[in-house]
Amino acid sequence: MRPFTFTKAKNSAAAVQEISVQENGKFIAGGTNLLDLMKFDVMQPKSLIDITGIALNYIKDLKDGGLRLGALVTNADTAYHREVEKRYPLLSHAILAGASPQLRNKATDGGNLLQRTRCYYFYDPATPCNKREPGSGCAAIKGYNRWHAIFGASEKCIATHPSDMCVALAALEAKVNVTGRNGDRTIAFEDFHRLPGDHPEIDSNLSEDEMITSIDLPAKGFADNFAYIKNRDRASYSFALVSIAVCLEMNGNKIKEARIVLGGVAHKPWRNKEAEALLHGKKATRENFQMVADAMVREAKGYEYNEFKIELARRSVVRGLMQAAKKEE
Ligand code: SF4
Repeated sequence: MRPFTFTKAKNSAAAVQEISVQENGKFIAGGTNLLDLMKFDVMQPKSLIDITGIALNYIKDLKDGGLRLGALVTNADTAYHREVEKRYPLLSHAILAGASPQLRNKATDGGNLLQRTRCYYFYDPATPCNKREPGSGCAAIKGYNRWHAIFGASEKCIATHPSDMCVALAALEAKVNVTGRNGDRTIAFEDFHRLPGDHPEIDSNLSEDEMITSIDLPAKGFADNFAYIKNRDRASYSFALVSIAVCLEMNGNKIKEARIVLGGVAHKPWRNKEAEALLHGKKATRENFQMVADAMVREAKGYEYNEFKIELARRSVVRGLMQAAKKEE
């Protein structure tokens, strides 16, 4: 690991001020991804600004019926929080599908959004990687790309976003509150992460001097009809090959609203609103779910080792919808 300076910020304003005067500074909270990246020499921040002393460790009700998660609440405390379990069980399930108990005890909600891809070439400085070193190439496109994207990739990068929590937050249409040198702003979850395009080195639309302060969950939590399914190589402590979050609003056996978000398949949680709309007003039947699943994967593109993900995604959509509609045989 390379030398770096370390400072502790007392509040958000001080943290933002500190990062704006530091060359190549990074905020650190749980550090469960950043420290690995520094040890592997993938990231070389010259200064770390510790934000764990800032009062952002809370979960509180919002006036509109939603719930606000402070950025420094741990993943474990979020997943097991009584209100989250009751009103947003999808989020609890998704968080508990990720990482290990030890990591969830340490990792924060803000950090979960900012974790970086687990593309194995990204972590290996001996290989070309446009995300790690812009312009160097992408070892995955013609390499071993079993974990990689089937949606929204570019000729510069085919990495996937590794988070489970983010798949649920996308389905719940969460909002991300941030603060920076230019003040506070709120980013809709679907606009938070970005596709790789020509700049895969940039993961999100957060500016360098901005930090996440909280995540807002809207009042609608889909607690009655939801599903989170994670397909992976082993039963725990493994990233998703394909995951899926489903939220349904039902009226008897008819679907009023459907939200379907795939994880492990793109540079960001992958949602297809046109495909979802095919279900609105339709009966909750396997045939209708298969029709939507076909539409969801129509634009998918596989590479040498990950073609199987297209069929896995299609089947996951059907299974997720069956579970959410409580039709699982
Ligand atoms: Fe790097 Fe992206 Fe290619 Fe992986 S897929 S090697 S992260 S450029």
